[in-house]
Amino acid sequence: MAPTSTWVAVGLGSNLDNRFDYLQRAATALCALPMLSEARFSAIYESAAVDCPDPRPFLNAAARFRCKAEAPALLTALQGIEHELARTRSYRNAPRTIDLDLLLFGDHRINTSVLQVPHPRFHMRLFVTTPLCDIAGDWRHPNLGRTIAELDQHLRSNREHREAPPVPSQFHWPRSALNGEPR
Ligand code: ADP
Ligand code: MG
Repeated sequence: MAPTSTWVAVGLGSNLDNRFDYLQRAATALCALPMLSEARFSAIYESAAVDCPDPRPFLNAAARFRCKAEAPALLTALQGIEHELARTRSYRNAPRTIDLDLLLFGDHRINTSVLQVPHPRFHMRLFVTTPLCDIAGDWRHPNLGRTIAELDQHLRSNREHREAPPVPSQFHWPRSALNGEPR
């Protein structure tokens, strides 16, 4: 059966020294995937490391696309990009150069041993909901029934949520990284 085209959301993160370079290369690779079209990227945010042994702050962003493949094929493609980027500069046990998470795949719910969609923890992380608000604030979480903007606001107003809100970074997508796609 030919897959129908679906709106998807992807989270990007890096906490290495050359993290902007990794984000740009990941964005370029995402835009080059034949299965993805109609790219739109969030701003790039800086976020304190959360639950992470490496204290270096992250750069985080989110992107949404139209996807003509099924979710497992997209996950495989994301992992291929992670592998390509990590392989060129990484060393044994190095911190993650780039993390690409499949956050949302239309209103699909997937729960297999290798793929859970919506990504099971993203609604608890401001470093995901904040960039996602830029491009998908009205998107309703299929399991929680709330929009991304509502989930982001909920985290911000929760006094027990100890994560500092991400701040817009000094980094901006160059058009060349996004094949001229508007942000
Ligand atoms: P995290 O992003 O949660 O910090 P990793 O990037 O190390 O963790 O991912 C670990 C595993 O999570 C991957 O091998 C992948 O199979 C699995 N996984 C399950 N659901 C997803 C998803 N929606 N997006 C990305 N990876 C996922
Ligand atoms: Mg991941």
